[in-house]
Amino acid sequence: MSEQVWKSKLFIGGRWVEPSSDARIDIPSPSTEESLGSVPEAQPADVDAAVAAARKAFDEGPWPRMSAAERAEHLVRVGQEVEKRYDEMVASFSAEIGAPLAVSRAFHDNAKKMWDDASTLHERVAFEEERTWEDGGHGVVVREPVGVVATIIPWNGPVATASLKIAPALAAGCTVVLKPAPEGPMSTLMLAEALEAAGLPEGVISVLPAGRETGEHLVAHPDVDKVTFTGSTAAGKKIMSTCGERIARVTLELGGKSAGIIADDIPLDEVIPSLGFAGIISSGQVCAAITRIVVPRERQQELLDALVPMFESIKVGDPAQDDTVLGPLAAERQRDRVEEYIRVGKEEGARLVTGGGRPEGLDKGWYVQPTIFADVDNKMRIAQEEIFGPVVVVIPFDSVDEAVDIANDSPYGLSGAVYAKDEELARSIARRVRTGQISINSWGMCVTQPFGGFKQSGLGREGNVEGIAPYLETKLIQYA
Ligand code: NAD
Repeated sequence: MSEQVWKSKLFIGGRWVEPSSDARIDIPSPSTEESLGSVPEAQPADVDAAVAAARKAFDEGPWPRMSAAERAEHLVRVGQEVEKRYDEMVASFSAEIGAPLAVSRAFHDNAKKMWDDASTLHERVAFEEERTWEDGGHGVVVREPVGVVATIIPWNGPVATASLKIAPALAAGCTVVLKPAPEGPMSTLMLAEALEAAGLPEGVISVLPAGRETGEHLVAHPDVDKVTFTGSTAAGKKIMSTCGERIARVTLELGGKSAGIIADDIPLDEVIPSLGFAGIISSGQVCAAITRIVVPRERQQELLDALVPMFESIKVGDPAQDDTVLGPLAAERQRDRVEEYIRVGKEEGARLVTGGGRPEGLDKGWYVQPTIFADVDNKMRIAQEEIFGPVVVVIPFDSVDEAVDIANDSPYGLSGAVYAKDEELARSIARRVRTGQISINSWGMCVTQPFGGFKQSGLGREGNVEGIAPYLETKLIQYA
């Protein structure tokens, strides 16, 4: 399949077809602001065609009826096709979103892991389980695919995020309509090529880049049984309420404002190498970023003495250069949003210790300097709201209990980190923080284990056996 095809057609039911309209999505480069080209923008009529194909494939086609082991063979092939396109996907995502190549590689490594993981799920999940119970009853518990799945994803890691959702959905036997964001759709269209090349049966998968309104149409579609969404908490609330109208199943992976707690016993050279990047990687456009650093009050200056020079030495620039650490923000409106939060932080009385502006010498592109606010009160908006930019806030504490309270005083609960020499202390803090994943003396998103949020960070889990469960309905067949 050539670039000409995905730049002129839409991928509906496993085939490239003419779009219903001539609407197009322009793709500006975040680093040069020049157009990288355009792709067709799906409209509600295209969604209707994709949902009809997915419905038919689910109700009548072979996919949900074949064994999980047979489906797994297809998933292995998808993984191989993703691998074949790895370099072009990495380059394309980097160009269209402005992510440095190393970040783009990390995302696409995760995508590959998701297909590998999903292709072995059938060995770990009991699709059928014989049961007997107290009064002599016996029968079988059957786990069936939930049906047609609408998958809506943001732009900040689309191939990895899509894979985290559609690989287990397909493993379960569901059929899928995937709607990537209009920002940076090219790498996801390469994923569509990989899905086509893997030869899934007709109707099983569609990929429709489009904006919010087409997304709303997909979520409200009566033939969609389940919605799985990754994006902002604001959109997640709207989607959940639409799903509530017809009790459509829903999984939500939403925003974050995760805390990294530093204890008083650990040398900072054991903290900074991971925590220093955990808040600003991919210019802070990562849901699980550690954007609140919670530090003993008497160690705040020691931390700043180490962190500020590190931030100031980071190479910000062209994402296509191998030694670039931070690229631009993905969109102009994203930079506007980040700059507005920097203004709010100053107004709230937080101390700006580095950054806060645009990097010198980068006249084109939506760049923001890596930025640190210190002496931050956790009640401030810059400590409570997700900025989604290269901005971290340092919040001092006076006791371990207060540090835990600060971490938990957030509408979010997605990720987190604890740095302490005392292992018992680290583990007890990790248990007390209300969050979906938390790391000790390191930071990283683990996508092959349960991933998801407490509170307004989401609903449900992705990854591993927990990640296939939301795509299965459970049925008990009782024998006489
Ligand atoms: P967004 O919510 O604006 O958009 C995400 C996707 O949803 C896009 O495809 C968009 O077109 C679509 N959309 C928006 N409103 C919709 C609606 N009402 N109905 C249907 N579709 C709708 O988010 P964004 O700004 O593109 O992405 C950034 C957000 O995503 C951040 O809040 C970030 O934390 C979150 N995110 C979360 C995770 C996670 O796993 N928890 C991962 C990545 C990003």
